Amino acid sequence: MSTKYDLGEPELKWGGDGADIAPRSLKFDDIYFSGDGRAETEHVFLNGNALPARFAQADSFSVGELGFGSGLNFLVTWHSWRKAKRLGARLAYLSIENYPLSTEEMTRAHAAWPEFAELSAIMREKLPPRHPGLHAVSLTDDVTLNLYYGDVDSALGQIEAKIDAWFLDGFSPAKNPAMWTPAVMEKIAKLSVPGATAATFTVAGDVRRGLKSAGFSVQKAQGFGRKRHMTVARIKNPPATYSDHPWFRPPQEELPHSATVAIIGAGVAGACLGAELTRAGYRPTLFDDAIGGGASGNPAAIIMPRLDLGDTPAARFYVSAYLNAVRFYTDLNATSDNSVFFPYAVRQPARDDNERNKFERLAAAKALPADWMRLDDDGLFFPQTGIVYPKAALSALIANIPIVGEKVERLRRRDKDWVMTTPMGDHQFDAVVIANAADALRLFASRTLPLSRTMGQIDHFPDAPAPDHIIASGPYLAPAPNGGAIIGATYHNSAGEAPETTPKATAENIANVAHWQSLKGFSSQPRASFRCVTPDRHPVIGPIPDWAAYGIVYDGLRTGARKDYPAAPYQPGLFVVTGLGSRGFVTAPLAARMIAANLTGAPSPVDRDVAELVHPGRFFIRDLKRSVSIAD
Ligand code: SAM
Repeated sequence: MSTKYDLGEPELKWGGDGADIAPRSLKFDDIYFSGDGRAETEHVFLNGNALPARFAQADSFSVGELGFGSGLNFLVTWHSWRKAKRLGARLAYLSIENYPLSTEEMTRAHAAWPEFAELSAIMREKLPPRHPGLHAVSLTDDVTLNLYYGDVDSALGQIEAKIDAWFLDGFSPAKNPAMWTPAVMEKIAKLSVPGATAATFTVAGDVRRGLKSAGFSVQKAQGFGRKRHMTVARIKNPPATYSDHPWFRPPQEELPHSATVAIIGAGVAGACLGAELTRAGYRPTLFDDAIGGGASGNPAAIIMPRLDLGDTPAARFYVSAYLNAVRFYTDLNATSDNSVFFPYAVRQPARDDNERNKFERLAAAKALPADWMRLDDDGLFFPQTGIVYPKAALSALIANIPIVGEKVERLRRRDKDWVMTTPMGDHQFDAVVIANAADALRLFASRTLPLSRTMGQIDHFPDAPAPDHIIASGPYLAPAPNGGAIIGATYHNSAGEAPETTPKATAENIANVAHWQSLKGFSSQPRASFRCVTPDRHPVIGPIPDWAAYGIVYDGLRTGARKDYPAAPYQPGLFVVTGLGSRGFVTAPLAARMIAANLTGAPSPVDRDVAELVHPGRFFIRDLKRSVSIAD
């Protein structure tokens, strides 16, 4: 079994006051920044990339950094962004770090710059847990920090971004060669926009040659302090190469903030999209005849992780979605009177020896950070999770979003617009996100997605004693946010038109949790709803292919023909989030961020492998690869 990747320890040695304030890495025998760290960052990285001036011109800007270290470069950049930025503009800061500092170490490193105290506090409060992989953090409405914890080379292979300016800030090339290899330079070239710049403190010949052979034009500039020179670089024509899978390449067009965006479906997927697209600078409109009409209308939603053995795209997706969801609802609570998220621990007892064995391996592989999961006598224990109250969450998320209270019956392309037909009439939009679970099959553009429905029933016992934590191992027992206990969920395949509750399902639910709590004698308020699922049980999140063109340009896949396939053709401005199954409240916040990144061109919050795992075209491509060419 491949285990999770272990991050390294930074191994710091602290200097004294004044000029020696910077921490030193014992591992690399080098300092994180010079004594006057702020001035150095301003000179080398900001001015080296002409940044304050470019910030003032941009509606959105993406910085890429190699070596997050203490986060000082980031704070200096954020500070400068605040002064220079245009109204409504967005900054995305993406940084890679294999030896993350703790928040305490960062506090100490930032102490010399009281002018950054506020920004440093916001950043430290939201700093992701020390867990390998990509963590996308919204710091404020206009600033996102994407921190990739992992080795620079493999991280760059997974990142999907279009970077405007690079900060190359590894330790000195002689001591930290892995940060400066030709392969690293090639990867940053591929992640650059045309005209992207790079700056670094070093003028080492190997680094300059690496940048040149990756396509950058390279110049010497005046160095900082005692250093005579530094390097600045610019790339006019970044290499177009994407990856081995052009059929999953995301659309390259960005949607301007003035564009009109519709979201079809006001369940948790649509509500998260509404909030996230608003944060990204759009003014979306929601369409649905009910809010939380489907499974999103249940009286409680448990936030707990799905954990997979091995470092697979699925394992990464569900862990990332889970960590992101806890952060998302915690933040939402702060602006909604704590009515949305109720922190509780979750206990997951092992059902048998096989599962016990799996749990032991998950714990040994550190599937989650130590303070997020531990192995107990009876199974796994997750101390930092909880319950969402769906009604409050949906109201908070869509509070400021216009809603058309009707179902969309038809969606079609007319000239450059999407036209949606509801009983009230036609509505025109530049872009549309389909987020209406299995009802996506009613719309021509998404009707070929292999979606199906299962019916689930939960039972709420408002008068029963509330358990003091959540227990979940298949069936679950949980405290309900508005009082009592909630248990669930049964699953039945359903061809029926409307979900229906049955006394039989209630009895089944009660029996399933009887060894944890007796609910005999309490009356139940059952609720049944559909969950939308896919054949591989992963959601569908991303841009919708132009199915006809997709079939034509990738026809060679039937015979395994190796050639330069073009980038994926998409239906312009059309996206989908569906198939969230019973994990909608866990995955919808991350799904919404993925779509926002598709629309804005901001760095993706997930790995390429993860975006491919949930890509709407994956079933089509699999079928093509499996089918036999009719020409043969
Ligand atoms: N920009 C940082 C700041 O503002 O404090 C300073 C960065 S420090 C000079 C270099 C950083 O590169 C260190 O934090 C180090 O842990 C990181 N690093 C070294 N080798 C790495 C590798 N192979 N992959 C990812 N990060 C690495």
